[in-house]
Amino acid sequence: MKILGIETTCDETGIALLEFIEEKELKFKIINHQLRSQFNIHSKYGGIVPILAAREHKKNLPILYEKLLKETKEKPENFNYIAFSYGPGLPPSLVAGKEFVVNLAKKLNKKIIPVNHLLAHIYSVLIPKNKLNVYQKIKKIKFPALCLLISGGHTILIYMEDFQKFRKLGETKDDAIGESLDKAGRILGLEYPGGPKLEKLAKKGKPIFNLPRPMISQNNFNFSFAGIKTAFWELVEEIKKYNKFNEETKRDLAASYQKAVFETIIIKTKKAYEKYKPNSIIVTGGVIANTALRKMMIKVFGKEKLVFPEKSLATDNGVKIAFAGYFFKDNALEPEKLEINPLLDI
Ligand code: AMP
Ligand code: MG
Repeated sequence: MKILGIETTCDETGIALLEFIEEKELKFKIINHQLRSQFNIHSKYGGIVPILAAREHKKNLPILYEKLLKETKEKPENFNYIAFSYGPGLPPSLVAGKEFVVNLAKKLNKKIIPVNHLLAHIYSVLIPKNKLNVYQKIKKIKFPALCLLISGGHTILIYMEDFQKFRKLGETKDDAIGESLDKAGRILGLEYPGGPKLEKLAKKGKPIFNLPRPMISQNNFNFSFAGIKTAFWELVEEIKKYNKFNEETKRDLAASYQKAVFETIIIKTKKAYEKYKPNSIIVTGGVIANTALRKMMIKVFGKEKLVFPEKSLATDNGVKIAFAGYFFKDNALEPEKLEINPLLDI
């Protein structure tokens, strides 16, 4: 079974073609995977400009689709489904994606599998490296499990009884963790997205600056990353006043910020861990591409309990949409029936 996956919820245009082989065990391969990030478009604004994101999706989708066909020499008639991430996301981005997907599905006479972007993040931890079978990955997850979803748009702690039954324990009340890292990067003069650039800087820095660990003493599983960003901005302004804003200080600031936000999510996750005693902890979303965070998590929870996605697939892409699409193929609908849902929840 071949599924074409399309991702346009935010600022990443992703198209991937996956093939699933159901024999005794579920095996799959990524036939082709195209991804175009819009970093250079949004970096000068310090964050994503939705209308520009939509314009780029519109421009890039046909280019990437043609590239995929050319590289694979696949015949679109042989695709079984088109999976599309219909939300949550930026409305203009979702509309641009929907338009392309609906037209394509009509032209090819295929059904569309609507995929919840958040579930795609969760299911993405099952994507095996190379061609290992998916069940080996599924077996690693022991339920009940906790899932920490940390991305550019979300910070959610979820209790999972299994892959279908779960509930939200808490979430961020303001900025998402990835957004917070991106904003801290901007305060340090780094280009968007700040997360990976902050990680690079922090590697050579020492976490010598004091920053708050927001909401850690509250008796709930919610997060807040707006206050820490303001505290960071004030700290940087103070340092600038004394003309100490040099490369060494920037590295120490990056290390201090990263440590503060990472410790915050770990403390909260640990509280949930102690209360719910899960057998596995799934951590997914773009921010878990961060090696320092992976190490901190392993130190606290141990390698056996933790389940991460492949690093190269942590941020948004078409592979995880096609992959999740496989599990939701029974929801496939005629192209006319597809609706976007910018505020979709888990
Ligand atoms: P997503 O929404 O899943 O595509 O994730 C994007 C978010 O992940 C952005 O806020 C990035 O800054 C963040 N991110 C990506 N790579 C890293 C990294 N290595 N360290 C920290 N944050 C990262
Ligand atoms: Mg995302």
